[in-house]
This record gives sequence, structure tokens and C-alpha cells, in this order.
Amino acid sequence: MQHLIRECFQKEGYVFATRAAEIARAHGHDRPARLASNENPEGPSPEAVRRAIAALGTVNRYPDEKNREFTDALRAYHGDYRFAASVGMDGIIETVIRTLINDGDEVVVSTPTYSFYGIAVRAQGGVPASVARKADWSVDMDTFIRACEGKKLAFLCSPNNPTGTVTPAADVAAILEAIDGILFLDAAYIDFCDEDYRPLMHRYDNLIIGRTMSKAFSLAGLRIGYAFVPAWYEPYYMTAATPFTLNSVSQAAGAGALADPAHIDPIIRNVVIWRTRFVDECPYPVAPSGGNFVLVDVAPATAETVVEQLAARGVIVRSCTSFPDLGEHYIRVSIGEEWENERFLQEISRL
Ligand SMILES: *Cc1c(COP(=O)(O)O)cnc(C)c1O
Repeated sequence: MQHLIRECFQKEGYVFATRAAEIARAHGHDRPARLASNENPEGPSPEAVRRAIAALGTVNRYPDEKNREFTDALRAYHGDYRFAASVGMDGIIETVIRTLINDGDEVVVSTPTYSFYGIAVRAQGGVPASVARKADWSVDMDTFIRACEGKKLAFLCSPNNPTGTVTPAADVAAILEAIDGILFLDAAYIDFCDEDYRPLMHRYDNLIIGRTMSKAFSLAGLRIGYAFVPAWYEPYYMTAATPFTLNSVSQAAGAGALADPAHIDPIIRNVVIWRTRFVDECPYPVAPSGGNFVLVDVAPATAETVVEQLAARGVIVRSCTSFPDLGEHYIRVSIGEEWENERFLQEISRL
């Protein structure tokens, strides 16, 4: 029956970092250091948990289709912008592609980067067109802008997963000036750096900024993503969106987390301290990062070997071989709890 499945789903999809965890378990590590998924080791705000529990009592009803509780909280937190919300930012990405891309349309993707853009584009019948970053992982502006010519949509991630690179807002503005299509700026890790792209929403009507509650706000398990969208685009997004994507428990938790912004301050401070320590103390080259993770170049070893060796020593990190346009010798290491970070530095120094 497999021949019935569309070709784009016959090959490998999103790669989850499960194998390293299995190796760690096989070596008797019941509680390995989990540094593979850029999760927040701290729990969410108690206010998020309290509101989520209260919302559980209302789940006989469908959630509010306009996500009002959550979008009101977003306006209180960010100011007066237009927002779309979905099942993680991944849900936003799928819906945005659905609104724009016809069979065979090319979509520009600045690589190496998060693999889901390409997967979601192909799933929609589109064709990802990669534009490689420069050797220092900054965006090759001329090439990127040229590639956008005649295209409806381009993806740019900043801070970029997995390199950690932050693209200055001035460069994003220059891209927006130069292109005719829409730029989807994935700002999943923006809370961990000092850049602010929000003012660009006032100046450009071809910018969508994707955000998530999964990283700094510790709500990965509830799958809450949102986007700043241009006013003209909002009704089209709503027409294309799956009804009731964001469930009522998630909406309530997301609103609760945004109502307690101070909760993430110590989390961010800790990330900043540790990513500097990773750069300084790791025996391999570490790229400067604006996220809660770093990219480590383990050459001449391969990523797969290092991931296996670290897993055997109870440290789970991510091999980056599944990221488009990245070599075989990079691993990504999330900033975790104190003991996990110490353990990583200790074990990588012993390899
Ligand atoms: C984690 C991540 C997302 C997805 O976030 P969800 O809201 O959990 O779907 C999107 N983009 C990048 C770059 C990420 O690393």
C-alpha cells in the first residue's frame, strides 16, 4: 500500500534526537544530561500552571476560535500588534505556507537552518531553494536578496538554529526593502538575545515574525506558537488555518506565562553566562550564539561519533547532520541545568 503515500513523505521527515538517549540508557545512565532539544530545564511560571489547571475544567467546550485570552495577553506583553496563534510555531509555519504556495513554487530558505521549513514546504507541494550562509554563518545578503526575486516566501531564522547567529535588525530591514515577497523571520530564540525585530512590523507589510512559548517560557509540551502578522494578511491566515488549533489549556497557560514575564529573567541570565562558558571552556571551536544552545565544530571527528561517545558517558547532544547544508562535523548543545552543563564540559574535554 506504500505506493499510495505522496512522494514527499516517502523519505525521512523531521529527525528526533532519540538514538542518543537509547545509547545512554544502554550504558546505564537513567538520568543523562539532556542537552539535545533546546528545551528549558526550568519549569514554567506557576501562573501558567495555575491557569492551565483552571482551564482543564472547561474542556467540554471548544476553545475560543480567535484565541482571545492568549492574544489579549500578547498585546499586554508586546503592545498593539496583530497576532496569529497555532500549535507551536510549526503550526504557524504550515499555515503560512498553505496561504501562499502552489505546486512547484520555490521558497527561499537561508541555510544551514531548522529543517522543518523545507519539510513543510515540500509537504505543501513547494520546492525549497537553499541560500547558504557565509563561513562565519552570517547571511550572504546579496545572494539571499537575489534568490528572493520572483519568490513569494523566504525563511530566515534569527538567532539561527543551529548556528546561534543573530542577524541585525538593519539587515532584516534591508532584505524587506529589497524583496517583493514575504519574509518569515523565525525568532524562536529571540528572548535570549538583545535584538528586537518588532519595530519592523510598523514599517513593512511583508514581514511575519514567528515566536514560540516552547523555549524561554518553558511550555514546549503545550505546543504554543504565535506570529506577528501584517494587518492585510491576518484574514487570509485565519481563512487558511485549521479551526481551533490552539487548545484552551494551552491558551490559558500561554496567557499566564506572559502575565509573569519576570519568571524568565533568571533563566535568560543563566543562558547568557553558560553560553559564554561553553565558548571559553569547550576544547573545540564554538560559534558565538544568541540562543540557548551552541554549535560546536568537532572536526576532525564526525558528529555521529561524538554524539555516541557523549551518550555513552551520559550526555545527550544533537548531531547536526540532518540540518540542510551543514557538514558532518557539527553538534548542537543546549544550555541545561548547572550539573548538565558541567558534565558536558567535563566529558567533551575527555574525548
Ligand atoms: C523550536 C523551534 C521552533 C518550533 O517551536 P514550537 O513552537 O515548539 O513548534 C521553531 N523554529 C525554531 C528555529 C526552533 O528551534
